[in-house]
Amino acid sequence: MNYLPIFIDIKQKPCLVIGGGDIALRKINLLLKANAQVTCIAKQCCNGIAELVKDKRVIFIKKSFEPSDINAQVLIVSATDDSTLNAQVSTLAKDANIPVNVVDSPDLCSFVMPSIVDRSPIVIAISSAGKAPVLARLIRAKLESTIPHAYGKLAILAGNFRDQVKAKFSNIEDRRYFWEKIFSGIVAEKVFAGKVDEASVDLQAQLDGSTDSNMGEVYLVGGGPGDPDLLTFKALRLMQQADVILYDRLVSPEVMELVRRDAELIYVGKERDNHSVPQDGINQLLVDLAMQGRRVCRLKGGDPFIFGRGGEEIETLAENAVPFQVVPGITAASGCSTYSGIPLTHRDYSQSCRFVTGHLKDGSMNLPWNELAVEQQTIVFYMALKGAQHLSEQLIAHGMRANMPVALVEKGTTPDHKVYVTTLAELGALVENTTIHAPTLMIVGEVVKLREKLNWFEK
Ligand code: SAH
Repeated sequence: MNYLPIFIDIKQKPCLVIGGGDIALRKINLLLKANAQVTCIAKQCCNGIAELVKDKRVIFIKKSFEPSDINAQVLIVSATDDSTLNAQVSTLAKDANIPVNVVDSPDLCSFVMPSIVDRSPIVIAISSAGKAPVLARLIRAKLESTIPHAYGKLAILAGNFRDQVKAKFSNIEDRRYFWEKIFSGIVAEKVFAGKVDEASVDLQAQLDGSTDSNMGEVYLVGGGPGDPDLLTFKALRLMQQADVILYDRLVSPEVMELVRRDAELIYVGKERDNHSVPQDGINQLLVDLAMQGRRVCRLKGGDPFIFGRGGEEIETLAENAVPFQVVPGITAASGCSTYSGIPLTHRDYSQSCRFVTGHLKDGSMNLPWNELAVEQQTIVFYMALKGAQHLSEQLIAHGMRANMPVALVEKGTTPDHKVYVTTLAELGALVENTTIHAPTLMIVGEVVKLREKLNWFEK
């Protein structure tokens, strides 16, 4: 280690910043976050510093630096573009044993300022010892995206209970087990959902042993259309927290790669007309697993509330008082159209968009054809491959132009993403004569033509 990482208490302590530009402002803001008493010395200052001075948060002294300025300071930052001055400040501070940081000059520093992930009171500092600050920033970005913002609130809540927990469990192992359960269970999830008061009540109940702390939880998570980069932060976090994952065919292998390594995986199928586990069975399985105290992730393709039967699954959970949360995902309409260069709405071509199921029931579809067969509207048909011929006949019979453009998007957003463009009249023949693989989404509307110009994803 080139440096010893420490966290210094500078609350109400005098800290000096030399320089009045934007970089000085950034350092001042950081010092203010830690509640320091900041004095800034420079010949002139930027607007941002002037604002802070106006709000009486910073003392600004308009003058040249003099050696006596460092007297009584506990920390000094030199942020000027005058290298002679920076070197002078560094020498004076080091001689006086005052920690000094000279911006962008690691050799002149006695301490470095790390990249920070701030979830106060949790603070993560990352340093590359001045060797690769950009890399440190990239690491920071990764951490920012995976550590929920409410971790700070969780830490404060834990702090409030620390003494009580210590009194209840004298054994350090028992304490650790208790806290681990709290930080990865329902209490933490409630804090993340902004329900801090409820979380506090739950934590107290678990401490008193007055609740069934063995009840698990279900996360109904939208896994998006296939590209794992389209997952939300929350989806990823819960996928990596769950003990059991129930998934079906629509969840892409790339997304499945991201679930917790040691989680139990249960395939519940849902191929067209061939449900490996019937819907009632899935609903009940979710309840049973949660009742066993397990954290269950029901991972679904796209968005769970769009043709995903997500409503039915959580209805059963609600009836059985099993706690659950729902995480939206990018639905196929959104993912497939975007990756095909087809905007679902467009000022000139389409002012509304409808999501419709094209699932054939007893050989036909019970749909409001008159409402669908209109101009200036985009229709996205889910589950429409089998019924494509019927669908095109009905739309034409109800007045839609036979030359209306149609796109079929096969395995959208995945490495096998493929688009077929045709017209309503020729749709049936295309599906008949081509081997098109599920899942396939159908987009009907004038907007399909925009793909000629806007296609960006396919090579
Ligand atoms: N809940 C899902 C939809 C489930 S219905 C969502 O929000 O996306 C299943 C249908 O979705 C499939 O028949 C197909 O029409 C469509 N679909 C889902 N993922 C798709 C993908 N990657 N590419 C093309 N179509 C997809």
